[in-house]
Amino acid sequence: MDHFLYRNGVLHAEDVAIPDIAAAVGTPFYVYSTATLTRHYHLFTEALSPLPHLVCFAIKSLSNVAVLKTLGNLGAGMDVVSGGEYLRAKAAGVPGDRIVFSGVGKTREEMRLALTGGIRQFNVESEPEMRALSEVATSLGVTAPITVRVNPDVDAKTHEKIATGKKENKFGIPIARASKVYAEAATLPGLQVIGIDVHIGSQLTELAPFEEAYLKVADLTRQLRSEGHTITRLDLGGGLGIPYARSNEAPPLPTDYGALIKRTVGDLGCEIEIEPGRLISGNAGILVSKVIYVKNGEGRDFLILDAAMNDLVRPSMYGAHHDIVPVVEAPVASPTQEFDVVGPVCETGDTFAKGRDLPMVAEGDLVAFRSAGAYGAVMASEYNTRPLVPEVLVHGDHFAVIRERPTFDEILNRDTIPPWL
Ligand SMILES: *Cc1c(COP(=O)(O)O)cnc(C)c1O
Repeated sequence: MDHFLYRNGVLHAEDVAIPDIAAAVGTPFYVYSTATLTRHYHLFTEALSPLPHLVCFAIKSLSNVAVLKTLGNLGAGMDVVSGGEYLRAKAAGVPGDRIVFSGVGKTREEMRLALTGGIRQFNVESEPEMRALSEVATSLGVTAPITVRVNPDVDAKTHEKIATGKKENKFGIPIARASKVYAEAATLPGLQVIGIDVHIGSQLTELAPFEEAYLKVADLTRQLRSEGHTITRLDLGGGLGIPYARSNEAPPLPTDYGALIKRTVGDLGCEIEIEPGRLISGNAGILVSKVIYVKNGEGRDFLILDAAMNDLVRPSMYGAHHDIVPVVEAPVASPTQEFDVVGPVCETGDTFAKGRDLPMVAEGDLVAFRSAGAYGAVMASEYNTRPLVPEVLVHGDHFAVIRERPTFDEILNRDTIPPWL
């Protein structure tokens, strides 16, 4: 459920009419709903109660500081995968003891940044990283709390580019080697082992892969404890999928996911962390765009929008589906038409949908891409020198621009001419 609904035939974000935002900001733009972000965060905290837990929002799905502050104010933790994301979490006022640092290639500079600024834990992904972290921590005179990310060799049954839990993926250490790696970690002076981490992929639409992975983590917890390690925290990653095509998809609910966690690891006496990104942010955002032209081609009609692959890359990168809806609702039983929905970028890859059945739309009409909050604005670029798409946050009947569209002067001024020219 989200808070993007039609009222009197006009799409609203909470109590704000989308055309009002378009008039103020211009198109294209992303708009996020505070109520939806809040609701999704609470679904997870309720699903995990009464287990001791922390829901760490995966910043990489939607990293605007205003969004992070919205969630951070509710008590959310943050999952960061770079020094830049760490600084975003801090800029949003999230204390270091609610920030976990994930990622397969943390640099020594990033480790130093987090150890100096405060960190809940590092999720270490390899032996060389573990040794580097110990050195950095020792040089700063501190100890780094760590979990080791294990790769449980589970098929997440999701898109190949976002599956991370098979043994051929680059993530984590093979679970079969965990015993050896934890033994070494225990000897490194700069580290304090506190738990285990696992994350098997993104946009999972079934619970079975989670169950398989978490049962392996439960076994590993018992084994590592018997080998003398203190395991008090389990980070179970993110990855729960959302319905992108609302007419025919029904991924598992956070309540069922929570019940699964209790069933598989709930009796170990560990504090549970999860790192949901998409399920909190995905349906909390839409991308609004304007129709530039309706072009009748040979055997097919094109809807040419002012949004493009540089603003929302998921369709061209993952073949992803987004529902596309008119901002002004078509009257009931009015005719529809099949369109290829495309952007103006000079690549055939700049196609949002092929043969999509849409109500009749005309030049100047507004359309919205649903479920665009996650992996939307964060992946945007200025390809074709199209200004970085702005972001808007709605709260009840208020809205605010939380990232401005840059001017062409600002864009051009970032390039500098070397002295020999
Ligand atoms: C991407 C990622 C997440 C979030 O995944 P979602 O599918 O957005 O929930 C969580 N943890 C790690 C380590 C990730 O890389």
